[in-house]
Amino acid sequence: MSFDPLLSDLFLAHEERHKELDYTPDMERIAAALGRVKTGEHSFLTASGEIVVESGLKRTRRREDLAHEASHALAAELIDDQSYVKAIQYHHAHVPDMDAHLERLADHGSLHWLAPREMVDKVLEVGGLNAGAVWRLHQTAEIQLHMALKRIVTFDEDGRRGGFIAQHGRIIHASSYQYYLRCWVGDDVPDEGSFQGSGVSLYQVPGYPSMCIGLVIADD
Ligand SMILES: [Zn+2]
Repeated sequence: MSFDPLLSDLFLAHEERHKELDYTPDMERIAAALGRVKTGEHSFLTASGEIVVESGLKRTRRREDLAHEASHALAAELIDDQSYVKAIQYHHAHVPDMDAHLERLADHGSLHWLAPREMVDKVLEVGGLNAGAVWRLHQTAEIQLHMALKRIVTFDEDGRRGGFIAQHGRIIHASSYQYYLRCWVGDDVPDEGSFQGSGVSLYQVPGYPSMCIGLVIADD
């Protein structure tokens, strides 16, 4: 996925909406501003624009689901009476799996609220742009580790980045942006000898010795 003007506009709209809401970290408030929120069996956006959130979710997942469905809601209202989804479907008709593409966009949009630019900047300022930043963002933003990975990898529109989360030596999440990451979900973690160079880092997740994070920053 790279950011063409349509996507840049979409993500900019997320930031603008956040600004209107004083950059609130409260996803309930953001969701309520975009649709009527109710609970149900699973999380989704109804055709009439109601935000349904799976009942019984713990705080982190509820915040993420609220932000994700609110992102779908924002996309739906963006292009006047023409559905944004239709516009995406038209302009991105080459995408092999449209549903998965739209889901990725909603995740990506939601991260502009869950981990806003200023927060990411601070996290990177404190500990640098390396695999540890994924862990620090996960802690600061109170989002799942793989969401933090996604945000760090795609944060800079001009960047070229890739990263993974591994457990027991096996990659369970991977993410890349304008960069070909040689290892992917299901692969073994590359050994430290082969996974090195400038911009490459591995990080042992504190408290979870079986988990590690890898990050490649290939920005020019
Ligand atoms: Zn979705």
